[in-house]
Amino acid sequence: MKIAILSRNPKLYSTRRLVEAAEKRGHIARVIDPLRCYMNIAAHNPEIHYKGGKLEHFDAVIPRIGASVTFYATSVLRQFEMMGVFPLNESVAVSRSKDKLRSLQLLSRKGIGMPATGFAHSPDDTQDLLKLVGGAPVVIKLLEGTQGVGVVLAETRKAAESVIDAFRGLRAHFLVQEFIKEAGGSDIRCFVIGDKVVAAMKRTAKEGEFRSNLHRGGTAEIIRITPEERRMAVRAAKIVGLNVAGVDLLRSDKGPLIMEVNSSPGLEGIETVTGKDIAGQIIAFIEKNAQPHKTRTKGKG
Ligand code: ADP
Repeated sequence: MKIAILSRNPKLYSTRRLVEAAEKRGHIARVIDPLRCYMNIAAHNPEIHYKGGKLEHFDAVIPRIGASVTFYATSVLRQFEMMGVFPLNESVAVSRSKDKLRSLQLLSRKGIGMPATGFAHSPDDTQDLLKLVGGAPVVIKLLEGTQGVGVVLAETRKAAESVIDAFRGLRAHFLVQEFIKEAGGSDIRCFVIGDKVVAAMKRTAKEGEFRSNLHRGGTAEIIRITPEERRMAVRAAKIVGLNVAGVDLLRSDKGPLIMEVNSSPGLEGIETVTGKDIAGQIIAFIEKNAQPHKTRTKGKG
């Protein structure tokens, strides 16, 4: 097969591993920078052009879309879909997962457990917003943040009010979430491929920090997850519409709670911690499932 990997940087660990795994299994892989693609929209015959010429035919496309290029890169992915190329994750599902509010709304509609969450832009009544999620301590998150940037723990009502006032001044979207103290600074990343959790790791924040992001000095270890956690992670990925997802859970007194569903989960941490060939499993999934024009939504909706 010919597999396109939509990624801005061929040197990234995840991109390199996907190329390596595809080649090892006898396929041809090419890294395509989505921002350098240009496309015709109007013609009956949708095409993608790249570096001065028409892009060759691919059987499958693997989107590795970063937060900063979501809008354009998902349009490029949609164009691949219109050309009948099988997407590992389809554009509609990628857009859903990139929009934290949209994905949390989808999950809550299906009854998936999550921390009590409120979201706001310019609330007039901060106290009422805090009451909505059960009062301090709360976690306040800027929607545009990734890797723990813009995620703040406000331990008292006063602190929460100050942070919310500051965010309001920024004219940013944010969410206010019940702080799951009993998670003890740890979360669980479940790596979902198809209808299985193929690997899981527990990430723990460094001393004095509540955010467990590896980029913030957190550490990771292999963990056995419960059948309930397994079911929940697979269901969350399915609801968002992703074939491959990194589903982040918190362990609470009320059971597992979903924090986030990522459509381009990194491979470095999970492969290093578990010693598993996740890239190889992703390519195997494509081998089994790739068929021309096989998307649920055809880029609609
Ligand atoms: P990002 O998407 O920027 O990584 P997250 O929402 O995943 O932001 O938050 C970063 C980290 O903060 C999480 O990995 C988790 O360890 C911690 N965290 C986030 N929300 C909560 C919460 N409601 N209760 C307890 N810890 C949380």
